[in-house]
Order: sequence, then structure tokens, then C-alpha cells
Amino acid sequence: MREITENYIDGQFCPSTGTENAPLFNPATEEQIGNVRLSAGRDVDTAVAAAKRAFPAFSNTSPGDRVLMLRRLAAAAADNADAIRKAIQEEYGAPAPFVDFTANHAGNAFLDMAAVLETYARTRNIGTTEVEMRPVGVAGAITPWNANVGFICSKLAVAVAAGTSIVIKPSEMSAMQTQVLAEALHGAGLPSGVFNIVNGSGADAGSALAAHPDIGKISFTGSTTTGQAVYRAAAATMKRVTLELGGKGAQIVLDDADLDVVVPNLLANGFINSGQACIAGTRILVPFRLLAEVEARLAAGLAEWPVGPAFDTASRIGPMVSRKQWDQVQSYIALGRIEGARVLVGGEGRPDGIERGWFVRPTLFTDVSNSMRIAREEIFGPVLSIIPYRDEEDAIRIANDTDYGLQNYVLGTNSDRLRRVARRLESGRVVINGAAHNPLAPFGGTKQSGVGREYGVFGLEAFLEPRALLI
Ligand code: NDP
Repeated sequence: MREITENYIDGQFCPSTGTENAPLFNPATEEQIGNVRLSAGRDVDTAVAAAKRAFPAFSNTSPGDRVLMLRRLAAAAADNADAIRKAIQEEYGAPAPFVDFTANHAGNAFLDMAAVLETYARTRNIGTTEVEMRPVGVAGAITPWNANVGFICSKLAVAVAAGTSIVIKPSEMSAMQTQVLAEALHGAGLPSGVFNIVNGSGADAGSALAAHPDIGKISFTGSTTTGQAVYRAAAATMKRVTLELGGKGAQIVLDDADLDVVVPNLLANGFINSGQACIAGTRILVPFRLLAEVEARLAAGLAEWPVGPAFDTASRIGPMVSRKQWDQVQSYIALGRIEGARVLVGGEGRPDGIERGWFVRPTLFTDVSNSMRIAREEIFGPVLSIIPYRDEEDAIRIANDTDYGLQNYVLGTNSDRLRRVARRLESGRVVINGAAHNPLAPFGGTKQSGVGREYGVFGLEAFLEPRALLI
């Protein structure tokens, strides 16, 4: 059993003053593997005070100095990639491809921001006015459990690039991953107080951070409901906010699509991170003419998506993170049947042959209408809905008929048509034909998927504000 009782504040690990613990589990076995001490408002105050002390000097460091710091952080993460991988596997249970991506992304996030900073023009002239982009103030970051290491690194990378000190409140369910990462990043030797990590529940530590008067900027990733609470809390002191929230992405299969290519893509986009992904394409929009063939091919394609524990390298879908998440996915599968959708493959319960662990059966629903709750709400598991459409206009209408707008997908063969359809989709990102992830492209959503953008120069500017000198 691992006991995590410390926070990382002012350049050192120090005991939490909290009195409650939260249990940590291995989701593949349901065994308790540790505890984390839940810090409260007092620890948040201490961490914010440390960040506030560090801010004046850090915000005036040169971009060149911060590029070197980012490279040191990247090296520290890379040197500890094996330990990070192991912690993600044990505490989160993600299959190897996701774990590898996350462990590499941790270091790459710092290198990406170093590259952005190296070419970023911080000052510009407008007539005789000199405009300088200045750090927005001490930042607070709140991260979810579904890519804890990645989110800590990407938010810290932007803060360091911008010259803002930061206090991070990660998900309490990811405390072992946070601990391994914090120990690694400590080795980068950043000035004390530049980054601080406080473990605690969202209700206590998270809300204290979102409301703290000395925080100038909140970068939050999590559910839309919690994002609304953070937005409200931040408003009291007019904090700047970046909110990366939920999604219900559509994958539009155009009628000229090559199904040999498209069907594996549909499953990969839908089952990203075992379906526990805000960017998952969970609504598969298929022309009526191709419906029967796509259904048959998707059902057959599931054979390529074995469910199993992280240590089994054949696994492509891991367990849900918690009992609560498992229950949520089960209840949506039951709801789909009640709403009149047809289970093409999968259903309630664990996959055959698996007795323990929060594993679910990858499930494909068909005969789904876009008005059903399984097509409108985030399930956050490997459960996909196939929705037929009449023509291109109908597909665009259905794709946009959602409260969310994070990431959509368009698949077909005619590049002019793909772009034409993509340009009409209301989301922060549209992926055409399985294009590769671009870590410097803006990331974020429209509508209730969030406010603002992360990554690259857009992410950097979300931590800066212009100051105009009228000369
Ligand atoms: P939650 O919104 O439940 O939690 C996210 C974080 O907010 C956690 O650290 C949580 O703390 C904290 N929190 C909870 N309540 C409050 C509060 N009142 N004030 C401040 N902080 C609070 O999301 P999940 O962790 O369940 O993550 C899944 C959700 O995140 C999904 O909806 C998913 O779509 C979204 N997400 C969005 C992404 C994006 O970039 N758009 C990326 C990844 C996920 P704790 O858990 O410790 O209690």
C-alpha cells in the first residue's frame, strides 16, 4: 500500500494538513493499492502564497531562461518515463499504446512549448504604441483523472513558457501518478514556488483554488458541470479562465468513403483511451445506403479491440477508472435499450472470461436517434451510437445538433468535399480521415465544450495579457 501524505509546495515535499484520506485502486483488480491525504483550503493558501512570492522574479525571467527550464523539465520527465508508465498502468489501467503516448507526451509538452517560446514575439508596435504581452498572474490548474500526467505537464509547460507561477490540483484518483511525476519534475530544479501541487478533493481544494483571490488565471479540464462551478467561482475576482470540458463528437462517414480504411478509423476514434476521452467520436453518422454494411463491418472490427489489463500487451481497451465510472457506463447501456436503440454488439456486464476489474463490454448501439440521451450525453466509456443520415445536409445538421463542440471527424475520399463538410462543423477541431495529432494546433471547444484554447501559441496567449504603452 502506497501512502501519499505530502504536497509539493515551494520547491519541496511537505506534509498535507488534511485529516481525511481517499483510497486509491488498481481498476484492473479492484484492489486498494494506496491512500492519498486530502488537503484542504489551508494547504491551497500555502501553495498560492509560495506561487505569489515566486511570481515577481519568475515573470521577469527572459524567454531564453525559460526555454532552458522547459528543456530541463522535458529531460526530467523523459528520464523517469518508465516510472511514469508503471504508475499509469497500475493506477489507471490504460493499455500500452495510451500509456506510451502519455509518458512521451509528458516530456514532449515541455519541448513543444519551448519551441513556441523561442519564436514568439512578445512585443509589437501599433502606431507609436508599444504592446507587450505580460503574464496574467499566478495561475491555478485543475486536472481530471483520464490523462492526469499529460494535463499536468501541458498546463505546467504553458505556465512556464508564459512566465506565470502555478498551483496544480490534480484528480484525487490519480495521486500515485501525480507523486511519481512530481518527484521527476522536482529534479528539473526550477526556482522554488514556480510550480506547486496540492492533492485534494474538488469540493475542497479545487473550489478553494478556483475562488482564491490571489489567483489570476484558472486552467480547468474536466466535466462541463464542474466547469460551470469553476467559471462561477472564478467570476468573483474576474479570473481569466480556460475551460476544457466534455464532448460528444460525431464521425461523419461520407457516401464516397472507402470502408476498408474508414471502419478501423471509426473504432479507433471511438475507443480512444478506452472510451474515457473527451475527444472520442461517439456518434457514428452513416448514410442510409451504407448502414447495413457499416454495421456488419463495425461489429466484425470489434475483434481487433480486445479488453484486458494493462500488462497484457494485446489489450486495446482497459478498465474504467473506478466503480462509479463502471456503474455510469452500465446505466447508459441499460438506458440505450430502454430508449429503443438496438445493441449490435456488447451490452451490460463484464466481457466473457473477465470476473474482476472495472471492465465493460465494448458496445455498439444502432437504430439510434440523435434525440436519445445516449446520443446527447457523455457516457465516457467504449459505447458508440450509429446514427443514419439522408444526405450531406442532414449529416451536418445531426453533427451540430448537440450542446458540445470539441472534436468532430469527417471520413471520405474527395478532399474538397471533406473540407467543405469539415468547415461547417461547430467544433474547436475537426479531424479529416484520421489525420495525426498536432500538438501545436489550438485545442478546445465551442458551445458547452469549453472556453478558450490550449496548446501552441493560442495556449500561450491564454496565459498572457497585453499591456499597451502609449508613447
Ligand atoms: P470532474 O469535472 O469531475 O473533475 C475534474 C477535476 O475537477 C478534478 O480534479 C476534480 O477533483 C475537480 N473538481 C470537482 N469538483 C470541483 C469544484 N467544485 N471546484 C473545483 N474543482 C472541482 O471530471 P472528471 O475528473 O470526472 O473527468 C472526466 C470529465 O473531464 C469528462 O466530462 C471529460 O469530457 C472531461 N475532460 C475534458 C477534456 C478536454 O480537454 N475537453 C479532457 C479530458 C477530460 P476530484 O476528482 O479530485 O474530486
